[in-house]
Amino acid sequence: MALIVQKYGGTSVKDVDRVKHVAQHIKSFRDAGHDMIITVSAPSGVTDKLIDMTKKFDKRPPTREMDVLLSTGEQISIALLAMALNDLGIPSVSMTGSQMGIMTTDAHMKARINYIKTDKIRKELDAGKVIIVAGFQGITEEGEITTLGRGGSDTTAVAVAAATGADLCEIYTDVDGVYTADPRMVQNTQKLAMITHDEMLELASLGAKVLHPRSVEIAKMHGVKLSVRSSYETSKEGTFVVNRDQLEKEFVVTGVACDQKVAKIGIFDLEDKPGSATKVFQALADANVNVDMIVQSAMRNNMNDIAFTVPLDEVDNALEVLHELKDKMSMSDIVSSTNVAKVSIVGAGMVSSTGVAAKMFSVLAQNEINIQMISTSEIKVSCIIEKENDTPKKAMQALHDAFELDKING
Ligand code: ADP
Ligand code: ASP
Ligand code: MG
Repeated sequence: MALIVQKYGGTSVKDVDRVKHVAQHIKSFRDAGHDMIITVSAPSGVTDKLIDMTKKFDKRPPTREMDVLLSTGEQISIALLAMALNDLGIPSVSMTGSQMGIMTTDAHMKARINYIKTDKIRKELDAGKVIIVAGFQGITEEGEITTLGRGGSDTTAVAVAAATGADLCEIYTDVDGVYTADPRMVQNTQKLAMITHDEMLELASLGAKVLHPRSVEIAKMHGVKLSVRSSYETSKEGTFVVNRDQLEKEFVVTGVACDQKVAKIGIFDLEDKPGSATKVFQALADANVNVDMIVQSAMRNNMNDIAFTVPLDEVDNALEVLHELKDKMSMSDIVSSTNVAKVSIVGAGMVSSTGVAAKMFSVLAQNEINIQMISTSEIKVSCIIEKENDTPKKAMQALHDAFELDKING
């Protein structure tokens, strides 16, 4: 008998029929004698609909109120799943993040879990109940409702698994594992039997939304055994996220990802003296803007240009902050573009190979795709390219083909 945490994503609980299907699957684990904790997302499309409603207001809504609204989606799923289990004669109890005690920071819409109270979980498990917890949400010490960022239900599941010392955490979704690229965007993708935490973390952070990045970090940090699998074809083996020393075979490039939800910002003629960059990036940090891929041009006439990327939904906030700053320090202009995407290749074996970045650049060049910015780490190379004209899809396919990811399984 094991303690198993399972997470079902939006499409897996999109209507009552799918919820009933999930309940049957949970029953099979109960019948085998396992203790079960279940995390669910909002039914597919619900979170998007809630966000759409808030776009009708003239001003950007306060993030506190956004969280009060967005947290309602998951509450629908937990209640329906408890009802479906009740139909099958399986005792269960649903809990919101605050009822369970998923304690988070107060960064609304991108809160991080500090710790999870386990007393109620233990009590209900001892009473023989299946526990159903709302994903994506938590509560601050002050009792404020928070959410963990889009896709955050994965993180709830892994964090609950870590807090309870669960034997396994299974993420059930609409694909049967982690592929060499998003199978909806690229042809001939291959399912990976295993992927390292570091590769998965890069892929997730670079746009492969199959797992929320923070869930992978927590799994690595706490040694949670994590797998991704299909809620539609439950008999299929999924992908295990593992430590590097558990890999059976290491690849130079394991996957291609693309993030189309980025924006590029450029600041011109910033004075070239100590403290200039600090002022800019401190102001952005104070406003909770996530900055990525910073590039500073060669200095001329004691002036520098700096370009960087931010998440698309933070660009308005970033520009507001920068325009305020423009009045206080010397810079000639601030420009931005939302017609950009970040395409990346990731692989644990890259660290000991040469020529990988050069090959990526030449593949993009052969396809007439201009590279606007570049960033690298030991196991990834990312390029900013244009978003229009289907360029991201073209780039992903070309990279997937050139690095022969269609042949990764032999
Ligand atoms: P859920 O609602 O279950 O959390 P998501 O839509 O968040 O599901 O994540 C699953 C989706 O992630 C898949 O449908 C797929 O289109 C996308 N995806 C992106 N990159 C990958 C990848 N490398 N492997 C598998 N799926 C991927
Ligand atoms: N419902 C939230 C979202 O759509 C969280 C999740 O599905 O993981 O982003
Ligand atoms: Mg998801």
